[in-house]
Amino acid sequence: MKQEVPIRLVLVGSPGSGKGTQGKLIEKKYGIPHLAAGDILRQEVARGSELGRQAKVVMDRGELLADAIITSVIEARLEESDCRRGWILDGFPRTIGQAKALERWLAQRGENLTAVVAFELPDAEILKRLMGRLTSSVTKRVDDDPAVHQKRIDIYRRETAPIFGFYEGKKLLVKIDATGTVDEVSRRIVAAVKT
Ligand code: ADP
Repeated sequence: MKQEVPIRLVLVGSPGSGKGTQGKLIEKKYGIPHLAAGDILRQEVARGSELGRQAKVVMDRGELLADAIITSVIEARLEESDCRRGWILDGFPRTIGQAKALERWLAQRGENLTAVVAFELPDAEILKRLMGRLTSSVTKRVDDDPAVHQKRIDIYRRETAPIFGFYEGKKLLVKIDATGTVDEVSRRIVAAVKT
């Protein structure tokens, strides 16, 4: 389905919450690009760019890149022509600082977010999914390491979860139960976003 009114979605959820899978499904459904911050950084690592070299050190530790660096990477991507009809951001913003930067960027352009989809999943389920990803040759990623999983979850709770309140205050937050099958979660998102 092609969209006339631009749809601008932000997906927020812990590592392993299924944002990437759902982002790809929404990309197909609405014909707008799914922009995953982690994928963009992993491409830079693979290319061996200066940004990639910096990102690799931080990603391997399970830490976050500095707000200014990731913000400029994402804003440059959002300014490409395929984003004119909308986009799905996955993994950005990940801090209050990033959320505020995105808000300023949108305001300068007179644009708004459609919704911020919050993926809710208990810690036990998060760890189970991350362990599953490690043992699958299809989904395993170069930055997957059991030693850093807990650290990434901790950083998520500390740095990223506060943006829920930020977007709740702006009446943009849509909470989704991220347990169950891919199809079930997808149906919940479509019903909740109701574009
Ligand atoms: P996951 O989906 O497992 O949460 P991502 O693929 O989104 O992981 O991100 C992988 C890594 O890339 C993060 O652990 C972090 O080091 C870095 N990263 C991704 N997005 C951001 C961001 N918005 N701000 C800072 N660092 C980021």
